[in-house]
Amino acid sequence: VAKEEHRGAGKCFEPQFEQDKRSRLDMLADFRNGLAHHELFLVLQPKVAVHHQRIIGYEALIRWQHPQKGLIPPVAFIPIVEHSGLYFELDLYVFKQALMLLTNHPEIDLPVSINISANSLHHHDFISELKTLMAQYDVDIARIEIEITENALIRSDMAILHLRALKELGFVLCLDDFGAGYSSLAYLAKLPLDVIKIDRSFVSSIDHSDSALAILKGMLQICQQLNKRIVVEGVETVEQLDLIKSLGVEVVQGFYFYKPMHLEQILSLHKNR
Ligand code: C2E
Ligand code: MG
Ligand code: MG
Ligand code: MG
Repeated sequence: VAKEEHRGAGKCFEPQFEQDKRSRLDMLADFRNGLAHHELFLVLQPKVAVHHQRIIGYEALIRWQHPQKGLIPPVAFIPIVEHSGLYFELDLYVFKQALMLLTNHPEIDLPVSINISANSLHHHDFISELKTLMAQYDVDIARIEIEITENALIRSDMAILHLRALKELGFVLCLDDFGAGYSSLAYLAKLPLDVIKIDRSFVSSIDHSDSALAILKGMLQICQQLNKRIVVEGVETVEQLDLIKSLGVEVVQGFYFYKPMHLEQILSLHKNR
């Protein structure tokens, strides 16, 4: 009986599965076209030093302005792109957009972090492609922070070699969304990381849950003992900010201070500084 039910269920889901597959393929074709026509652009979210509450850097985040579908957020396409071969093209596109932005706007004289899919670390042309891009733009490499988004295990020797090569070239390396998904404590010892970004899920309930606060404290202690710089993301309220400050955190990112902003808004911030 169980077998029959199973088969029945399989049949029933098949058309849906085919449809999903087709819509994924349509989306990828659209995405490729969007990259070619510059429908994808970067917004910047400030990182803030808590003691003087000034902006000390930015994170570049991708947006897709689709001609028919409007503005598409990364959650709606990054996971699909990461399961296709296109993540590498996306990462190089983002990297290039960020370098162009910094070259064209020298008044943005702060470090900028770029999100790179962990998949790209497994790509054997990754380092040479980044070197080629860096050679085309006059941007100090130490201003570029690479955030490794943890949705694939960083497991191959090549990925680790690539991280070391990036570090030797002078990029700042950051482990994103620490504590969520695939990221593990073992990475902290094994990978040449400069910065650990604590996932926002650890922040959202610290002001009403003692256990959430205990976990955050523990994570911060480990990062501090390992001499990693810490960024806490997802700070939305003054209560969260005060708690995080009391734990010795120096840099935060979150809607409490700023949402991701368009380039024009960033430029006017810098003009008025
Ligand atoms: P992420 O790298 O962890 O980026 C932080 C996300 O949290 C951003 O969402 C940001 O808008 C959001 N955020 C920041 N502060 C707050 C807050 O206080 N509250 C809440 N609720 N959210 C906050 P976004 O821009 O939608 O990006 C989502 C994810 O998509 C990113 O997470 C990253 O994993 C991926 N992503 C974004 N841009 C790129 C990119 O250029 N390349 C790659 N490979 N992935 C990207
Ligand atoms: Mg990030
Ligand atoms: Mg992420
Ligand atoms: Mg993150």
